[in-house]
Amino acid sequence: MGTLISYFTLMKDKIVERNILQVIRNVSIEENINAYLVGGYVRDIVLNQESNDIDFVVEGDAIEFAKIVAFKLKRKKVVIFPRFKTAKLTYRSFDIEFVSARKESYNKLSRNPDVSGGSLIEDLSRRDFTINTLAINICSMDEIINLYEGIKDIEKKIIRTPLDPDITYSDDPLRMLRAIRFASKLNFKIEKSSFEAIKKNSSRLDIISEERITDEFFKILKSEFPVKGIFLLEKSGLLEIVFPEISALKGQEIKDGIGHKDNFIHTLKVLNNISKRTTNYKLRLAALMHDIGKPKSKYFKKGIGWTFHGHDDEGSRMFVKIAQRMKWPNEVTDYVSKMIALHHRPISLTKEEVTDSGVRRFLFEGGELVDDLMLLCRADITTSNKKKLNKYLENFDKLSEKLVAVEEKDKLRNFKPPLNGLDIMECFGEKEGPIIGLVKKEIVDAIINGDINNDRTSAIKLLTSIQRRMQQN
Ligand code: ATP
Ligand code: MG
Repeated sequence: MGTLISYFTLMKDKIVERNILQVIRNVSIEENINAYLVGGYVRDIVLNQESNDIDFVVEGDAIEFAKIVAFKLKRKKVVIFPRFKTAKLTYRSFDIEFVSARKESYNKLSRNPDVSGGSLIEDLSRRDFTINTLAINICSMDEIINLYEGIKDIEKKIIRTPLDPDITYSDDPLRMLRAIRFASKLNFKIEKSSFEAIKKNSSRLDIISEERITDEFFKILKSEFPVKGIFLLEKSGLLEIVFPEISALKGQEIKDGIGHKDNFIHTLKVLNNISKRTTNYKLRLAALMHDIGKPKSKYFKKGIGWTFHGHDDEGSRMFVKIAQRMKWPNEVTDYVSKMIALHHRPISLTKEEVTDSGVRRFLFEGGELVDDLMLLCRADITTSNKKKLNKYLENFDKLSEKLVAVEEKDKLRNFKPPLNGLDIMECFGEKEGPIIGLVKKEIVDAIINGDINNDRTSAIKLLTSIQRRMQQN
């Protein structure tokens, strides 16, 4: 096929990568053990994409093989998983993994296979998708082993399992999410029978841990086509299982001839808009979840229509529960829940005459999220009416200008009140308690409302007058 020879010529600038492969090739020759480049690394060669994950199948003891490679590359650390006959090492930015050729059998209750020795062919057949079954013998380096027509599927942009899809997904249900992940990363189509098998096996996802699901889900969000990923999750029935809160956005209710928009479709549009502007997966996640409070806050007011009052706070609380259930890190929980809680603020601000105090409060409460909130509110405009769209965008432009002006003047974005709880306690001679909290809030409100300047002297002056007032009462 010659692909590899030309690849090596192409690699002349990739000195580190070339060096790694040369060293492994030499070990294979010296030890007389076949080692094959496999999986995503070979797929990415064909796709002409960079990859920092290099996987090898070794027809022999992969752990011993990895130790010799590590010695030659002057790496001390080899991470070994004896149960899976796997060894891993890192070299510069590369993760290099060796696995003994294996065949596997599964038991119904777990996704961990029983591993026993096998040949390269058996090893390739147990891989998830044909595009991931390609291999290259590191010694001969002249041909891509293409047992399952993986190259043709890459050319046709198709995701297909090498064996019966029903068995493939049932054996390891994580593969359903991987299929969707590759579809949204590469913009490939999942073959029809494969997609049917995913639908059929969707409920099997319950044997997969939240951590593994999260890993794939975040990769979908980070991919080039996250909307495609979410759309496929919904169509396959997997979204309903993992995030029923998002599925619940689907549909439109009609009363007295008045309908509301389908909030799922709206959400996909918002995600699409934001994904054009940022690759930050947390911001994309906020876009995906921003309206989850709507189904619960939905209310039909006679003569007025549908309202969703409080969907921001409701959604924020719901998100915290989702994050706990999925065991997401605090930085994700804190960021997204705050984004959801505040996502409607810029819209409310532009609906009325934009006042300095409204802008100050937004800067104070939004803090470092203000820029992301402005991006989200722009992405949240999904009207197809050009006139309306331009009017909304203009309003946000005005708000942005005002934000810059007020921020320059008052420096409220990372605002810390000039007096803290300790100062107030000292002045009042009281321990921490509700009064201290109330006084603190009164001072902050006075600054935000522009009644006093944002400095210590003005705050102490106000504190003294509050104290006097309280003594009189
Ligand atoms: P990327 O590194 O871009 O995430 P990848 O295809 O390399 O993609 P890995 O998770 O690194 O994915 O896995 C390496 C290879 O191992 C895959 O290409 C595939 O051949 C195989 N593989 C990984 N996970 C599974 C699985 N759940 N079932 C079957 N084969 C798998
Ligand atoms: Mg990989």
